Amino acid sequence: MTEKYDAIVIGTGQSGPALAVRLANAGRKTAIIERKLFGGTCVNVGCIPTKTLIASARAAHVARHGADFGVAIDGKITVDMMRVKARKDSVVRQSNEGVTKWLGKTPNLTVLEVTPDLKAPVLSASTRDCWRRERSSSTSAGGRPCPTCPASPKTATSPIPA
Ligand SMILES: Cc1cc2nc3c(=O)[nH]c(=O)nc-3n(C[C@H](O)[C@H](O)[C@H](O)COP(=O)(O)OP(=O)(O)OC[C@H]3O[C@@H](n4cnc5c(N)ncnc54)[C@H](O)[C@@H]3O)c2cc1C
Repeated sequence: MTEKYDAIVIGTGQSGPALAVRLANAGRKTAIIERKLFGGTCVNVGCIPTKTLIASARAAHVARHGADFGVAIDGKITVDMMRVKARKDSVVRQSNEGVTKWLGKTPNLTVLEVTPDLKAPVLSASTRDCWRRERSSSTSAGGRPCPTCPASPKTATSPIPA
């Protein structure tokens, strides 16, 4: 089945969701496509989980140096890695679900997940056609080369409505 959109955004990483929501709110029939995890690298495996783990390490460090601050802690300071990971997973889940819900509740925006029925090569071809005809598709697919995209080896963005 062929569906037409005014704008197509590939990837739900750092810029994709904001761009897609802005386009949809401006009245353009918009689709955003994700093949893996909503929120991309930063939310799921990058900035957020690493900084959450660092926060736990910092808490252990401060606890161990409590005496330097005049804080007495009786007993040994230990780190429960299961709880550290559970906290990290919880923070990541909140962020991932936040992006997913934000996109899902935006009117005029269709969220497409790449499934075995909706393969990436199909998307690449339609994106290429869209670029040629209307220049109204955008990639927010990370720093990966896009050999089929004629505009730029990495990214191209459509004009953002005022
Ligand atoms: C361990 C780690 C820690 C980091 N910490 C920080 C930090 O503290 N601060 C900071 O500023 N940066 C940090 N970064 C870097 C940051 O995560 C990236 O710069 C940022 O996520 C890039 O965003 P992006 O939107 O370009 O790509 P991504 O976040 O990778 O998003 C791309 C999205 O597009 C999807 N996609 C790709 N191709 C397709 C396709 N063909 N069809 C459909 N969907 C597709 C992907 O599945 C993904 O969801 C960290 C990175 C790592 C790995």
